[in-house]
Amino acid sequence: MTDRILEFLRNRREDGPCLVLDLDVVRENYVSFASAMPDTRVYYAVKANPDPRVLELLAKLGSCFDTASVVEVEAALASGATADRISFGNTIKKERDIKRAYELGVRLFAVDCEAEVEKIARAAPGSKVFCRLLCDGKGAEWPLSRKFGCDVDLAPRVLEHAHRLGLVAYGLSFHVGSQQRNPAMWDGALKAASAIFNDLGERGIALQMVNLGGGFPTRYLKEVPAVRAYAQSIMQSLRKHFGNHIPETIIEPGRGMVGNAGVIEAEVVLISRKSDDDVVKWVYLDIGKFNGLAETMDEMIRYPIRTSFDGDETEPCVLAGPSCDSVDVLYEKDPYHLPVSLEIGAKVLIEGTGAYTTTYSSVGFNGFPPLKSYVI
Ligand SMILES: *Cc1c(COP(=O)(O)O)cnc(C)c1O
Repeated sequence: MTDRILEFLRNRREDGPCLVLDLDVVRENYVSFASAMPDTRVYYAVKANPDPRVLELLAKLGSCFDTASVVEVEAALASGATADRISFGNTIKKERDIKRAYELGVRLFAVDCEAEVEKIARAAPGSKVFCRLLCDGKGAEWPLSRKFGCDVDLAPRVLEHAHRLGLVAYGLSFHVGSQQRNPAMWDGALKAASAIFNDLGERGIALQMVNLGGGFPTRYLKEVPAVRAYAQSIMQSLRKHFGNHIPETIIEPGRGMVGNAGVIEAEVVLISRKSDDDVVKWVYLDIGKFNGLAETMDEMIRYPIRTSFDGDETEPCVLAGPSCDSVDVLYEKDPYHLPVSLEIGAKVLIEGTGAYTTTYSSVGFNGFPPLKSYVI
């Protein structure tokens, strides 16, 4: 929460929930990453918040970009970044999208199987590829499941195939799970990566790069370690597993770059109880799962919520969104404590909402417009 955001909200006259994002905080976050990891290139994960002003600021600061689609490649180019600063990091791409990215100048692609390597060899000949390893996401509040990456036994074959087809077998990547609160979680993946570097090295393929992915957390209700702690832990693991041959490294922060730069202002629409002896109150906001707070799915991300009644006695509340869909409940299994004095019509501030909110908002479910966003 910054004074600039509070000042902006004091002067705002429009109705409806909105996100306000403070670019000064994004700048500070970029500088933290760049200074904590001076030998690592930063590829901002565009999907976390693709607002053009965020991308322009980061391009100016020297950031590179991790993109997931042609539209994101174009957004990164429009921000002023040259194509050599863009990685097409989605492992699931249509061949014609690979071709389009190649025509736009992109030469760095993620893969996790031989079929994807073949698409890239045809549509983006001679490009660099890195193979994504499966990571179990332990310790992460938003784990990434088995959807991306391949087993460590398969990765050498995928990269060897790339090499044979005239691509540059460039390196490995992994993602330890989003909102990863344990800096030691990079160690296992780096150990596996170094074994693959050795294995392929013996077969004449010299990998050069390890993509350390995202996962750097933002502060929600619980304290999180500082970027420096992640940098130290990662550096230690790199030394332990790669010795004097530390490869080129990149990171792809999304949440950690923009999460704490944004605050959503919302309004209490209704407060009620389901029966006279109900122990929890129901508090309905004008924002829910369909217009910005999708990451409350399974109650995984718990946002800090500020009200003007803070300091008063609190009571457990079920917190829900405004739409006519029964899944539009934010916190119920683990009720949210809110002030007893909270009133219908009161404004609430939902902190840490700069990442994964605006673009996760539906185009108009129930007639509720997409989340408004102001970048200041
Ligand atoms: C989403 C994503 C990121 C960003 O993850 P955060 O946890 O938000 O930092 C980085 N890399 C890839 C490949 C991704 O898909």
